[in-house]
Amino acid sequence: MTFLEPDRYFSRLSHVDIGRDIVGLGYAHVLLDIDNTILTRDTHEVPRDVGVWLGRARDAGIVFCLLSNNWHHGVYELAERLDLPIVAKAVKPLPPAFLYALHKIGANRKDALVIGDQLVTDVFGAHLLGMRAYLLAPLVEQDLPHTLALRTLERAIMGGRKPEGAPTGANMQGAEGLAPRAAQAASAPDDAGCKEAL
Ligand SMILES: [Mg+2]
Repeated sequence: MTFLEPDRYFSRLSHVDIGRDIVGLGYAHVLLDIDNTILTRDTHEVPRDVGVWLGRARDAGIVFCLLSNNWHHGVYELAERLDLPIVAKAVKPLPPAFLYALHKIGANRKDALVIGDQLVTDVFGAHLLGMRAYLLAPLVEQDLPHTLALRTLERAIMGGRKPEGAPTGANMQGAEGLAPRAAQAASAPDDAGCKEAL
């Protein structure tokens, strides 16, 4: 396992099993990326399955802090709407914002998990501090130019590794011919793909 390899890799947040993959492993806190992790980069929406998952995770006792490199006012509005603490302008992967986010929610490096869609910011930043990191496939392919450039590096590192929860040959039946993202959505939970209802 290198510093840039995620501890787990999921197709989207709602495929992370709250009981088995978080609570059952001893994690009570999650530092959660925003862009293309819970908020689409193109239409700026929280998909319904993501919103539902967040509600279930909070009901299970997990405490979140949003941790984002985004510096726009919209991320603060999102945090307020979701009623979650936030550390923005984080300059991930540098450690200070990770440490501040941990402090903000009373967490430590061992009982907190980092979840995000980028290897260089989310995963590498977590590993620099000895924290575990779950990588998600980005919600949509649209992203900032420098992020898209880093995707090439990510593909080289991840190779052919398939995300957990990705469509299989069996559940792809009927989804053939769809664009990759549409095919992925076809395998997402029933309530996925709808706009947030928070
Ligand atoms: Mg992101």
